[in-house]
Amino acid sequence: MEVYDVTIIGGGPAGLYSSFYSGLREMKVQIIEAQPYLGGKLNLYSEKIVWDAGGIPPMPAGQFIQHLINQAKTFQPTIRTGEKVNGIKKKVDGNFQLQTTKGKTYLTKTLLLAVGNGILDPTPTPFFTNEGRQLKNVQIAVIDFEAMKQKRVFISGGGQSAIDWAKTLAPIAKEVILVYRREAFKGHESEIKRVTNGPVRCIVKADLVEKKLTPDGSTIEAVTILHKETDKEETILVDEVIVCHGFNQKNELFEQNDIGLEVFNDYYVQTTPQTKTVIPGVFALGDAASYTGKVHLIAGAFHDAINAVNAAKLYIDPKADAIGTVSTYADNLKSKVATVWKQYATE
Ligand SMILES: Cc1cc2nc3c(=O)[nH]c(=O)nc-3n(C[C@H](O)[C@H](O)[C@H](O)COP(=O)(O)OP(=O)(O)OC[C@H]3O[C@@H](n4cnc5c(N)ncnc54)[C@H](O)[C@@H]3O)c2cc1C
Repeated sequence: MEVYDVTIIGGGPAGLYSSFYSGLREMKVQIIEAQPYLGGKLNLYSEKIVWDAGGIPPMPAGQFIQHLINQAKTFQPTIRTGEKVNGIKKKVDGNFQLQTTKGKTYLTKTLLLAVGNGILDPTPTPFFTNEGRQLKNVQIAVIDFEAMKQKRVFISGGGQSAIDWAKTLAPIAKEVILVYRREAFKGHESEIKRVTNGPVRCIVKADLVEKKLTPDGSTIEAVTILHKETDKEETILVDEVIVCHGFNQKNELFEQNDIGLEVFNDYYVQTTPQTKTVIPGVFALGDAASYTGKVHLIAGAFHDAINAVNAAKLYIDPKADAIGTVSTYADNLKSKVATVWKQYATE
């Protein structure tokens, strides 16, 4: 069976940047991500602007993900999405053995735990599915803003992310209707005011009663709500539905770890500042890592990634350089330099 030098569990900023850096250090790498998409937590706030990642212009987190993915692919790593690692076994012939939910087994010399705070899945919303199938115009985050132009967007929920989507989509959509079952929205006061006093139609104390689907059952055409105060029903025509009902957080990997990882508060691994865990060859990085001075930000995830990859390199080859060469002088990037310059010439 193929043996990877580095297996990265988690395709968030820590995992994606580790993929690039592992390639820079000439190691054979794979990323395994439980979700069908990469980007980790940034998908939760894809419409928010990231300002503090260093060296990039302010940009929506959704776009930032694309840059992370492009960089992660620089050295052609193996990327597996929609596959959850649910078991780590102690060494088999000097390698760690991983099991995934696809029934697959992988061998790896080193393991980078870039699992953030576990897997965040949207709270199941039976109202917005049809016989268990996801409806075409229902989403939890907008990926394609162009597609929202001149649309009637129905947002269900009353927390910060519902407020954020309403605020962001108001200038783009034809109409934004924000419906919440409770009395008061939860979130930043100033933003709630901006939304409730602005062009968004905000409806509180309303229950979802019925949805009308297109004849093929694939899309929602209208949603009927009940205004609890007046006991009156209203049917609202919709083009797009955004559901902001929160997330369930799970970290079964840490619950079931067979290798003796020191996990605390369910989601954190105690590491050294160089990301080393108590198990030689296993490193924890990004939001999953805890050490004095740890920065739980994207920039902190990048810093950890460099330390983890360098430590993995040394673990595999104790004679290797302790730190990688600067990218400006990296031999294995030289062949790509001309392409980069060409891009600048055409911009
Ligand atoms: C609302 C919000 C706003 C933020 N804004 C900013 C900001 O402006 N600037 C900033 O620098 N930081 C910000 N952060 C923090 C930043 O998003 C995190 O620090 C960063 O995402 C951590 O990256 P990570 O890769 O360690 O973890 P994550 O991004 O959480 O990624 C971990 C990945 O691991 C996967 N995973 C977990 N378990 C398994 C498993 N068993 N098998 C396979 N895959 C698994 C998960 O599905 C997930 O994709 C914000 C965070 C939040 C919640």
